[in-house]
Parts: sequence; structure tokens; C-alpha cells
Amino acid sequence: MTSSKAVAAATSTTTPTPAPAHPFSVCVFLGSRPGENPAFTQAAVAVGEWIGERGGQLVYGGGRSGLMGTVAEATRKAGGRVVGVIPQALVDKELANQACDELHIVANMHERKAMMAERSDAFIALPGGIGTFEELFEVWTWRQLGYHDKPTGILNADGYYDNMLTFLKQCVGDGFMDEWQMGLVQSGTDHATLLAQLVESAGLSRQHDALKSVI
Ligand code: AMP
Repeated sequence: MTSSKAVAAATSTTTPTPAPAHPFSVCVFLGSRPGENPAFTQAAVAVGEWIGERGGQLVYGGGRSGLMGTVAEATRKAGGRVVGVIPQALVDKELANQACDELHIVANMHERKAMMAERSDAFIALPGGIGTFEELFEVWTWRQLGYHDKPTGILNADGYYDNMLTFLKQCVGDGFMDEWQMGLVQSGTDHATLLAQLVESAGLSRQHDALKSVI
């Protein structure tokens, strides 16, 4: 193992060198495919650049495929730190990203999700498929149950989540959810505004004075 890169063995959570200080760590959930609309790729690039330009850390699923690879590359190119967490079974399918500063190859999906959640200060979902939805809804439901209190957002790039947000409002009207539960997730169409809100509401601007000037 060389330089600062840590390629962890299956189920290992060890890192040979301590992670350098970073002002915030954002977990991004997004498609393992690029999708048909170039606006989705643009959103993934913009999110990666926002994180990287502020010296932040991206935590994501560790693949090079689709929007996942796009956000990782954009973060790294903009100067950010990238932590990928991928189950052994998906190393080939999702093209494990050896360019990560830390690439953790874990035993299963449960370990992946637990590590991604543990290493992040906030979560944001971009366009994606059922894997993205599952990850978003899990951290949302964990928050409603009090397992964590990390800000969670939906980037509604080019209206991708319009219908889902309409349906969720219908769930409130139909009595299966309350407004406070909806309030546990922030949605927005502008990546910079949403990311700044998530990072600020994680309380990080109070912990890191330097961050005040960049968000
Ligand atoms: P998708 O949105 O379906 O393209 O998947 C995006 C990412 O979510 C990929 O890295 C998938 O491996 C991951 N994923 C799929 N199913 C799950 C799950 N049950 N829990 C966590 N991540 C998942």
C-alpha cells in the first residue's frame, strides 16, 4: 500500500494513515448509470466540484460506473477527498474506483451502508435508480427513528424527483406521514444552496470557523 491511499481488505475498517482534517464529509447517493439527461451528469459534476473546492470529503458507493464515477472524479479533480465503500460482490459490476483516497471493500451491503453513514456529516441524493432510493429512504427513516440526526437532502436536478415529491405530499394528505417527517428531508433544485444548507445545519460552520467563508 502506497501514499495516502488505503485499499481495505474485505470487512476491514482500518486505515494505515489518519485521514487528513477536512471541514465536512458529505455522503452522496446517486445512480450507477448516467441516465439519459445530460443535466444529471452536470448535477453530479457540480456537486463533486462544490465539495472539492471547499476541501470537503465525498463518501459514496466506491464505483466508477455512471453518476457515481462522475461525482468522484469531479470531487477529486477539484481538490476534495474521496472515500468509497463497495461490497466485494460489486467490485467488478460497479467498477471499484482505485482512484479513491480510501477504498473500502466490505463484506456486504449492510457494512457498506453502515460505514457510509458513519463517515458522513450529511446525506444528499441525486438522480438514480432503486439503489439510490433505498439508500435515501433508509437514512431518512433512520433519522425519523432517532438513529442519527444528520441533515438529509434531495437534489431535484431538472425535475427528476418532481413526481416522487408530489407522491410524498400525497402520503401526508393520506395520513401515512406527518409534516415533521417530511421536514426531515430538504429538497432543492440548486446544488449550491442545498449543499450549503445541509452542511450548515449539520452544525459544521460552528465547529470549523474556516468553513464560514466558503459555504
Ligand atoms: P442505482 O441507483 O440503482 O443505480 O444504485 C446506486 C447505488 O446504490 C449502487 O452503488 C448500488 O450498488 C447501490 N445499492 C443498490 N441496492 C442497495 C441497497 N439495498 N442498499 C444500499 N445501496 C444499494
